[in-house]
Amino acid sequence: MTRSWRKRICGDKFVTEQFTHKVAIVGSGKVGTTFAFALQLNGLVGEIVLIDLDVQRTEGEVMDLNHAVPLTNPVHIYQGTYQDCAGAEVIVIAAGSAQRPQETRLDLFRRNTAIFKQIIPQIIQYNTEAIFLIATNPVDILSYAAQRISGLPASRVIGSGTILDTSRFRWLLGQYFSLDARNVHAYIIGEHGDSEVAVWSLANIAGMPLDQYCKSIGCSIPVEHRKNISAQVRNAAYEIISRKGATFYAVAAGLVRIVESILRNQNSVLSVSNLVPGYYDIQDVYLSLPAAIGQHGIEHILELPLDEQEKNSLQHSAHILHDILDQLEI
Ligand code: ADP
Repeated sequence: MTRSWRKRICGDKFVTEQFTHKVAIVGSGKVGTTFAFALQLNGLVGEIVLIDLDVQRTEGEVMDLNHAVPLTNPVHIYQGTYQDCAGAEVIVIAAGSAQRPQETRLDLFRRNTAIFKQIIPQIIQYNTEAIFLIATNPVDILSYAAQRISGLPASRVIGSGTILDTSRFRWLLGQYFSLDARNVHAYIIGEHGDSEVAVWSLANIAGMPLDQYCKSIGCSIPVEHRKNISAQVRNAAYEIISRKGATFYAVAAGLVRIVESILRNQNSVLSVSNLVPGYYDIQDVYLSLPAAIGQHGIEHILELPLDEQEKNSLQHSAHILHDILDQLEI
């Protein structure tokens, strides 16, 4: 992994050199800057560079973030160019464009793929060792595109995938059972989008399947409630966007969680988008499954023992993504 050494300046002298973790963010829109702020609060890195076409707004974002440094953590935050990707251990790509009126989803996908065809070659000119973390939507398609364009091993090109949907699922179950959501273990897998799959068969609390947990406390979670929770997870982005125009806090927290697992080599199991290694007869597509994430990126993808219905739904999700990839000719 690339290491970033930062010279500390005292007056006009360099007084010492200090090892810091460095993260580059390409795309300083709502997701990119919220992630930068969350990373700053977390204190995980010593250097954050923001790169965006919109130079003036990015300057403003960098000023605003830097003004929080004395109140948060000593971190060097600056606006940069692609050259500044050099030395970054993780490069987060949150650049893209939103759907325009009258534009189809496929048109949007084409436009964001074209943006990636511009961005990725410029990054790899300066850094081929980093772990690339893709946040732009459609994240499964663009992560696949980023891996193809960069030629990097799939283990180092990761999409944020369903880390957010999984978090929403756990939160809703935590609400339902009045429990700390961190003690609810349940995953959303597949596409980060309409065809995502809630893995109810393996959801558990303290190792107990949900039915068993319900029995132990004398409650129940009937099928209608399960369907309702799955639908709330699936429709969360639409619900939020209809109220505030965009979603960014939870996805930013998800990105920080992934970066933390990489930089601290935690091997945390998180649901992220990656090239499926032939599990469930699925090939040549990026979608989310739980994976152990460490200093090399994806260390291991878990093959969950899904029930028949979940397996069929996951294969359906893969078909949908395949169809889009075929139309985009990536
Ligand atoms: P989101 O809500 O997903 O963060 P935004 O529209 O707020 O979406 O942010 C997307 C960012 O991507 C914008 O700041 C935009 O300027 C940036 N962007 C778009 N195209 C490019 C590009 N080719 N290179 C760098 N940044 C780009």
